[in-house]
Amino acid sequence: MYFPSWLSQLYRGLSRPIRRTTQPIWGSLYRSLLQSSQRRIPEFSSFVVRTNTCGELRSSHLGQEVTLCGWIQCRRQNTFLVLRDFDGLVQVIIPQDESAASVKKILCEAPVESVVQVSGTVISRPAGQENPKMPTGEIEIKVKTAELLNACKKLPFEIKNFVKKTEALRLQYRYLDLRSFQMQYNLRLRSQMVMKMREYLCNLHGFVDIETPTLFKRTPGGAKEFLVPSREPGKFYSLPQSPQQFKQLLMVGGLDRYFQVARCYRDEGSRPDRQPEFTQIDIEMSFVDQTGIQSLIEGLLQYSWPNDKDPVVVPFPTMTFAEVLATYGTDKPDTRFEMKIIDISDVFRNTEIGFLQDALSKPHGTVKAICIPEGAKYLKRKDIESIRNFAADHFNQEILPVFLNANRNWNSPVANFIMESQRLELIRLMETQEEDVVLLTAGEHNKACSLLGKLRLECADLLETRGVVLRDPTLFSFLWVVDFPLFLPKEENPRELESAHHPFTAPHPSDIHLLYTEPKKARSQHYDLVLNGNEIGGGSIRIHNAELQRYILATLLKEDVKMLSHLLQALDYGAPPHGGIALGLDRLICLVTGSPSIRDVIAFPKSFRGHDLMSNTPDSVPPEELKPYHIRVSKPTDSKAERAH
Ligand code: ASP
Repeated sequence: MYFPSWLSQLYRGLSRPIRRTTQPIWGSLYRSLLQSSQRRIPEFSSFVVRTNTCGELRSSHLGQEVTLCGWIQCRRQNTFLVLRDFDGLVQVIIPQDESAASVKKILCEAPVESVVQVSGTVISRPAGQENPKMPTGEIEIKVKTAELLNACKKLPFEIKNFVKKTEALRLQYRYLDLRSFQMQYNLRLRSQMVMKMREYLCNLHGFVDIETPTLFKRTPGGAKEFLVPSREPGKFYSLPQSPQQFKQLLMVGGLDRYFQVARCYRDEGSRPDRQPEFTQIDIEMSFVDQTGIQSLIEGLLQYSWPNDKDPVVVPFPTMTFAEVLATYGTDKPDTRFEMKIIDISDVFRNTEIGFLQDALSKPHGTVKAICIPEGAKYLKRKDIESIRNFAADHFNQEILPVFLNANRNWNSPVANFIMESQRLELIRLMETQEEDVVLLTAGEHNKACSLLGKLRLECADLLETRGVVLRDPTLFSFLWVVDFPLFLPKEENPRELESAHHPFTAPHPSDIHLLYTEPKKARSQHYDLVLNGNEIGGGSIRIHNAELQRYILATLLKEDVKMLSHLLQALDYGAPPHGGIALGLDRLICLVTGSPSIRDVIAFPKSFRGHDLMSNTPDSVPPEELKPYHIRVSKPTDSKAERAH
């Protein structure tokens, strides 16, 4: 497979003229930034020994004397080889005449993936030998001199896209994996997007890029944090889960508009789409409301969006938390396809079907359904069986599969009890077609919705494995989710409350009174940004009143306010109203590049279990190195041995 001409495409964005929406304060700095961002394509060969990149050569370079550096991709019959660098591939003719014997020897003997420097002339390929699949396919290099810069030993895997390798092997030899086209593309696209984000935030909207500490103190009421031992006995730093406190303090400090490409840390164990260290585009602004943050982010994504993708259309649609839960059964819905949850309780008020009757007789009982388009055609009997088992095992719920239009039945005799009038009403409500299957469940609203939300995604996956295209892979479907509850019941003790976002989130202005009467019912000024079923950002308007913050922390969340005395104190010194958001950069780039895992958009990621397989990290350290930290390691086996004594 050859490199597509993606690089110039990627960099073409640099030429986009800057829209001046604000007057620059720092005139000359602004002008020079403007000039550098207007350059068309970066100078890839400045300061180095090569004259050109392998991938940039075309017929327009014919006759030019060039020097190239790159890796030997492959060699054929000792007559030519293909040289590769980050920009692409080029064919190099190995000279056959006696006088060039030393050049021939270097180029024929150097193992594949050795790094070489060649100089020669750009010539056109003989008629009929052009390769239209290769961007440099019209030309080749007639070599005059060659130098082996470094030979390559036998590789653990071939650097070819079609060669399948396990992820563990890719992570162990990450520096080799990075040579692949896909990793090069992902990391360069990431760099480009971040560069444009900086440009948008700092140059167009006056944000200040500020680094905040990564050795900090535990923040109560959030994710689990990594601890870092200090030399003071029993005292530890924490690696911050986000710069949340600092960015709020920067607002108190009058910085007004802050952003940072921030490294964050969460010790949350292995999850497929999480990393223990990850990157956020972290933003905070003073004197802003929710709609201000939303517009800023829409503009930011539109401005930084890669040119080789369909443009981002703004404004993004907005739904409330209650609406998304009722419609999609989740707070991060994939809105690229329909299959929405429909409440059909009214159709079954007089049903004879036992489990529906049962559910509807309860105070919050409902009957809900989703329609699987052409389900009769694509889902097998055993799929429906496993759907029913899943519902029973994980949700303790029944699922009734119903064909409303076709005279068919899947082992569900109950379906026969659906009366004709009910059937017609369901066809109308669910807008079903000939081959559709309806999955129906009954029970408490949230539970029924969560189950159908899961099944909606499961069925979409199933249909897609059977060849139905439900989700257009080129579509980016953004959605704002707003009006979250301020608190949720704690998982481990549902009678206690925890923040749905974090404890600094302000209540919805119309729900403040509920904090003192029915806090569970209070909505917040928390907003999430969802893209194709993934949460890619979240933020809130913050509490800037120390009294309210103290009440929420101490009385409602039962947190130790001493841990946050510095923040509470700061709020008392004229903290401005403020709010912000953080975008998960890794996940965003993963979706933009269509990568299967966030590890594919991080240069040196941790494995699923949080290990660096290349360097074998985390690693043990000798006891003497632990001494200054007053730490002694007791391995699980040691304590077992101790107990045995
Ligand atoms: N610090 C928050 C987070 O990491 C984002 C925010 O509220 O701005 O989720």
